[in-house]
Amino acid sequence: MCGLARLQAFAWLALLAAGVVAALPARESGGIRGFFPARAVKERELEKSFQQSPTPGRARLDVWALTSEPHVAGTPEDYRTAQFVLEQFRLAGLDAEIVEYEVLLSMPREVKVDLVAPVARPGPTPEGGWKPDGKLADARAIMAYNSYSPSGDVTAEVVYANYGVPEDYEDLRDMGIDVAGKIVLVRYGKCFRGVKTYVAERQGAAGVLIFSDPADDGYRQGDPYPKGPWRPATGVQRGSILYLTEYAGDPLTPGVAATKNAKRLAMKDAPTLPRIPTTPVSYDDATPILENLSGPVAPNSWQGALPFTYHVGPGTSKVHLKLDMDFRTRPIWNVMARIPGATHPDEWVILGNHRDSWVYGAVDPVSGTAPLLAVGRGFGQLLKQGWRPQRTIILGSWDAEEFGLIGSTEWVEDHADELSQNAVAYLNMDSGVAGSYFGASAVPSLSRLIREVADEVKDPATGRSVHTVWAAEGAKIRRGNGIPYAVLNTTLSAESSGARVGSLGSGSDYTPFLQHGGVPALDVSFGGPYGVYHSIYDSFDWMQKFGDPQFTYSVAAAQIFGLLALRLSEADLLPFDFADYADALQTHVEELEKELKQEPRVNFEAVHASLAKFTESAKTLGAELARASAHGALSAKQTEETNRALIDVERAFLIERGLPGRPWFRHAFYAPGVYTGYSAVIFPGVREAAGRKDWTAASRELDQVRDAIDRGTRVLNRAIASLIGPERRR
Ligand SMILES: [Zn+2]
Repeated sequence: MCGLARLQAFAWLALLAAGVVAALPARESGGIRGFFPARAVKERELEKSFQQSPTPGRARLDVWALTSEPHVAGTPEDYRTAQFVLEQFRLAGLDAEIVEYEVLLSMPREVKVDLVAPVARPGPTPEGGWKPDGKLADARAIMAYNSYSPSGDVTAEVVYANYGVPEDYEDLRDMGIDVAGKIVLVRYGKCFRGVKTYVAERQGAAGVLIFSDPADDGYRQGDPYPKGPWRPATGVQRGSILYLTEYAGDPLTPGVAATKNAKRLAMKDAPTLPRIPTTPVSYDDATPILENLSGPVAPNSWQGALPFTYHVGPGTSKVHLKLDMDFRTRPIWNVMARIPGATHPDEWVILGNHRDSWVYGAVDPVSGTAPLLAVGRGFGQLLKQGWRPQRTIILGSWDAEEFGLIGSTEWVEDHADELSQNAVAYLNMDSGVAGSYFGASAVPSLSRLIREVADEVKDPATGRSVHTVWAAEGAKIRRGNGIPYAVLNTTLSAESSGARVGSLGSGSDYTPFLQHGGVPALDVSFGGPYGVYHSIYDSFDWMQKFGDPQFTYSVAAAQIFGLLALRLSEADLLPFDFADYADALQTHVEELEKELKQEPRVNFEAVHASLAKFTESAKTLGAELARASAHGALSAKQTEETNRALIDVERAFLIERGLPGRPWFRHAFYAPGVYTGYSAVIFPGVREAAGRKDWTAASRELDQVRDAIDRGTRVLNRAIASLIGPERRR
């Protein structure tokens, strides 16, 4: 993991060097990449006007309104937030509607985690002892649970298994410890929580308890809430344990929209549903269980921040775990707004954020919803001034993201054919603001656009550009374990620095767009010290004290979100950069080759040859795009054909039959890792076959990568041909 991060940092340096050199002349002349000179002037005015629209006062009101009651997906409170968002879009003058799907959700009826030996201590302790605004005590705050855990009733000895990844069980085996029939106690961090249950299930464990160690997001990091932003003793991380690495969305309708009459799997046949009872606990509840474990002392790296030596067990702690879960098909509500494009209505730029939260969700997701609403209002104002976007802009407020990216996935599956034809890009913002550190993940062809837009927006604290601050301060964000994907996926390891754009793994709504639909995607946010993820403490009060006290970063987030959309919706030539993609693929391939260099049966020659062609075409295309953009002398037909090809490149990277064993994931280059869940595995087909030491399959999957690159090259060449026109084509 660290090696990979370092390599990506090197790639970034190269990219930045190339990007800066190429971007300077355009900026000096007032030009914008992708815009013909005459239209660049208008775009500048449009962007300036848009940037003035979002205000801190309005952001504060939106966050206040949307955090006023708990709003878990599928509940009446969630429906009220859908109506609020709908009303805001309509007040802004946008055409908007609520789109309903019916999906399987689980809600807790009873959660019991009783320590029965060596001492009796009933649990869990309810969350939320501190309530300055009286709201944390709301009876509608859902008790802490892991959604999609089955019901169960087990009494068993406990084994501590660190983060619960496969290597941890190997270490346990070396210590002579078998977890079959035991309840495993694991800590949050390192991988998606569903992976912990998935691995424990395969080890024959009877149940799983996942606790938040104060080393990861509690007092070891800083003062706990309410004194500081970190997780307090009774804070629990709720969250889904759906096996999302198989497919995202409703567990009963893989690959198709969960409409009323959709064909549904029986629950027993749904491969993404976990089979062993799992529940999250606070460190307050984990302490007596862990403290009473006998057996060997846990390895050094397994020790956390609780004030005693961790042992692995089994014994003497024995726990009675009883879960009663209510599984039911329930309605969920996406809110969709659409601004039709004036000249290219069939080219779609899509922005999205989820709306459902585990409790109040001030950071996750409301801090992204406020910018989405601000963008809607800003575009509404521009419309009133007579503006019409060139391309169609769609705003999506997704539901049930927390359960498994469900609202976005069902919508993507519902519109698969149209998206395949029309989607230009998907721009995601989940937890939009938890602090002041800008972070981004994207397909490599959009990295440069993110940096360009970050140049245009001011960092509220310093008045310098977000890009400048991002490049200078990026390294200050630690790679945190208990910190959610939005920070985790975009933060930098200590040794890297600068404005690095990460790879997209999973953990938010870009997954169905990119990894199922082949739609170029990006994810942006401002992160910071944030230990109250998925707890009752992620509240308006937390946001006002720690996350964004002045709501100025909410404004900056809206400006970035909106400008990204405007560059894509208004460009004469879409501002993708495939030379960046080529560089990233080059780095990825070298990294993979280094990993597999002991294995002569996997031959990289063909892939290198294909990548060389892709790189050459990408460079030629970049030069031709810059030239065409500077001169603005293209016919409407040339422009149209070029943009069509630019849209098609990412789609060419899809493997029609999907990844081996998980056909829903179709991108040849990026998928969530089976054992990481959040972070991206690059060339997943090859790496997973190599992990099984199945070299025939690894070679076959490498051929798939090569074919995908070749398909991409052909599309790039199509774009070049349409750009240079028939007279220069000879
Ligand atoms: Zn979220």
